[in-house]
Amino acid sequence: MIHYTIGSRNPAAHYFDIELNIEAPDPAGQVVRLPAWIPGSYMIRDFARHIVEISASSDGRQLGLTQLDKSSHQVEACSGPITLHYRVYAWDLSVRGAHLDTTHGFFNGTSVFLEVLGQSDQPCRVVIQRPAHEQCAQWLLATTLPRTSGDEFGFGEFEASDYAELIDHPVEMGCFERVSFEAGGIPHDVVLTGRFSLDHDILARDLSKICAAQIELFGPPAPMPRYLFLVMVVGNGYGGLEHRASTALMCSRKDLPPPGMTEPSAEYRQFLGLCSHEYFHSWNVKRIKPRALAEAELVDEVYTPLLWAFEGITSYYDDLMVVRSGAISTEQYLETLGQTITRVQRGRGRLRQSAATSSFNAWTKFYQQDENAANAIVSYYAKGSLIALCIDLRIRQLTDGDHSLDDVMRCLWQHYLDQGSTVADHDIQKLVCEVAGTDLMPELDAWIYAIQELPLTELLASVGIELKYRAASGPQDKGGKAEEKGLACSLGAGLKPGDGGVQLATVEEEGAAQKAGLAAGDIVIAIDGLKAGMDECEAWLKQGRAGDRHQISAFRRDELMHFEVELAAAPENTAYLVVADPQPPAFQAWLKSHPDEQ
Ligand code: ZN
Repeated sequence: MIHYTIGSRNPAAHYFDIELNIEAPDPAGQVVRLPAWIPGSYMIRDFARHIVEISASSDGRQLGLTQLDKSSHQVEACSGPITLHYRVYAWDLSVRGAHLDTTHGFFNGTSVFLEVLGQSDQPCRVVIQRPAHEQCAQWLLATTLPRTSGDEFGFGEFEASDYAELIDHPVEMGCFERVSFEAGGIPHDVVLTGRFSLDHDILARDLSKICAAQIELFGPPAPMPRYLFLVMVVGNGYGGLEHRASTALMCSRKDLPPPGMTEPSAEYRQFLGLCSHEYFHSWNVKRIKPRALAEAELVDEVYTPLLWAFEGITSYYDDLMVVRSGAISTEQYLETLGQTITRVQRGRGRLRQSAATSSFNAWTKFYQQDENAANAIVSYYAKGSLIALCIDLRIRQLTDGDHSLDDVMRCLWQHYLDQGSTVADHDIQKLVCEVAGTDLMPELDAWIYAIQELPLTELLASVGIELKYRAASGPQDKGGKAEEKGLACSLGAGLKPGDGGVQLATVEEEGAAQKAGLAAGDIVIAIDGLKAGMDECEAWLKQGRAGDRHQISAFRRDELMHFEVELAAAPENTAYLVVADPQPPAFQAWLKSHPDEQ
């Protein structure tokens, strides 16, 4: 048994204090290590860099510690039980790390629990103590770590069957609000920390429908005994990380439904999509797993071409389950889908990088995007979700609606339940062929491993949807809707308010701005000698004509430069979807918008 105690002697200094007792350490010198990365987030983060103090002792005697590398320490050889004390700085307000002050505490086990090498399969016991500060006196605690003592939502003692489980249940502590509901026969809680106003009933109503629909999709029972959404609410933030029985989320205050909300706002729809996404991961990636990740030690990068499936298919189902559950309308769903198509089609990177290559390079490219990302890479989330859409619609087309991607997911789930098997690189493609009853391998290879365009127009038409493109109507236009008037011409740059002008956030390859010599980061201050802000730029692009030449004055660093720009015709790369009227049965079957009437 490995025994941890975690608390904080000084939450205002953002330190967690941890004691680790190892009853039977390696007599040659026990090695302990913090992970370099956290499952679900494919970037080296080197959590051990936040350890600020560490010491070891045995039976009251101090033991020497030798640091072996950036993540591990070795304790002096010792025959009896040993105790380590260490202190971790927790000031990363994200779903991937640890954060502590006098308003709340949050941690992932990967940030605070040293792994005892050689004993990773041993059960662990954890005592979580209330931080020693008067402002923490009323704090509660939320986690799905199995509890062995203390009241529900109180501090107490917990256990995990091994280290992998120990680090897969994030912990939130503070004076949070709680929303509870049942779905698929198991209890669900949403625990929200921060300042916000929220309609509890609306959130419980919508999430319970979404969760129930997913349990129904894979077939009951749910794979976990209870489920917890841990939500940190901030002024401006977005993110989520999946775990086996919970998810850590960050959202913006405006994403939550205010009391009495009648129609779901775009922000709330996105929040439901995020919840749905992480919940879907309970099956797809937390249990059905790519082989490479299942065998991963959390030390070095682990490479897989399969994130198109584990993130992409999950991204496809996230909004799909929201519409199928009835929490949003089909129009709202199609708007979101149109925005995803727009996001992929606007980036030249889709012609350079396949979804599989994007997945393989997640560590250094997708997770470390720079201003050239849209030119260089494609998102395995967005392109992957469109590949999933194509697979779903192709199976439906080939089987006259008898089968779909749902059957593929159920097969994967059944394989996991029967054999606990992991997914090799081409397993999902083979299953798709089996379910479709046709050899689709060359087609699937082209979608996943090559850079050619997906047959979206043809496949959407098979369910009665026309895919249309138009020019963007302005810098904020994300697509998904038909707009009256698009921009007439294009500067070939993403614009955002900058210091004293308009900043070119991104510059498109071969676009007008790049041809003129402008670069990402430049701050445009004048057009044709007149001061320019966001409004002026937008008006200029609305009224301009392709071929017009203009003088642009911009700062690069602190140097004022002048550029002659020839405006280009605005590209028609903003997608929206139009459904046939009346809606064909194939459309109804796909979105199952009225399950009660079928
Ligand atoms: Zn995900």
